[in-house]
Amino acid sequence: MTILNADLHCHSTVSDGTLEPEILAERAKTRGVELWSLTDHDEIGGQQRARTAALALGLPYLTGVEISVTFCNLTVHIVGLGFDPANDALVRGLERTRGGRGERAQEMGAGLAKVGIPGAYEGALKYAGNPELISRTHFARFLVETGVCRDNNEVFRKYLADGKPGFVPHRWAALGDAVRWIREAGGVAVIAHPARYDQSPTQEYALFSEFKAHGGQGVEVVCGSHAASEYPKYAELALEFGLAASRGSDFHSPDESRIDLGDLPLLEGRLTPVWELLADRIQTA
Ligand code: AMP
Ligand code: MN
Ligand code: MN
Ligand code: MN
Repeated sequence: MTILNADLHCHSTVSDGTLEPEILAERAKTRGVELWSLTDHDEIGGQQRARTAALALGLPYLTGVEISVTFCNLTVHIVGLGFDPANDALVRGLERTRGGRGERAQEMGAGLAKVGIPGAYEGALKYAGNPELISRTHFARFLVETGVCRDNNEVFRKYLADGKPGFVPHRWAALGDAVRWIREAGGVAVIAHPARYDQSPTQEYALFSEFKAHGGQGVEVVCGSHAASEYPKYAELALEFGLAASRGSDFHSPDESRIDLGDLPLLEGRLTPVWELLADRIQTA
């Protein structure tokens, strides 16, 4: 049970992925995933569909979500796994977290209009399968489709990163709240893609310490948003902080994602896989 091709991080049309939950389940199964979780941003509306599709394929499933958090003025993401999706505090917390996205998107559109890109809000909205979850990814798709940029990376670099014309600062959930919602719903909280944050070593240490103090239990070590050269550092940090290790592609789209479902290397044997903490939450039938 320890070594598994587990893929515990990906996105569907319910947030900023391009595939429906059922299609993702099939893709995961076909590509050899042995334990799967759909982790849409700030939204669990796809969980029932993902779970039903996975179980019909004989693919073990864990409930999942990726919560947007503001920690020391920086956006970080916390993945929740194995929680009860009917938990009231979690459902209300997620509702509040995604609440400001519509207004933020309109402001992003206004920012882009000022630099000569009109209609971006309306354009992005067309790509959002779920308008409540309109995100920077949907703006990126619009700007690529209309030929303003070559790919999403260029869009983020020129228009959507902090300080760029389409960037609108936003306050997401507090770290302690996100971890508490997940825990109180019976799940395990995991720091998503720690290498992606623009943090000094001191800030990173503070994130890990506070996360742990709030009851967080895991960290992504092998992850589609990390370079392979970054895995060892986070394996060490997992051991240092006594955190379990998670593994997930962060797959969004066949056209955009570098790493597909199930494609990552397995976790090292010296790490505790996060699914060992979740053995009784894995759904198989
Ligand atoms: P938001 O939650 O609206 O701030 O959007 C964040 C999403 O943008 C992330 O979940 C990623 O899917 C995507 N993203 C962030 N940075 C980049 C990047 N440099 N290149 C491509 N996609 C990115
Ligand atoms: Mn995303
Ligand atoms: Mn993320
Ligand atoms: Mn993600």
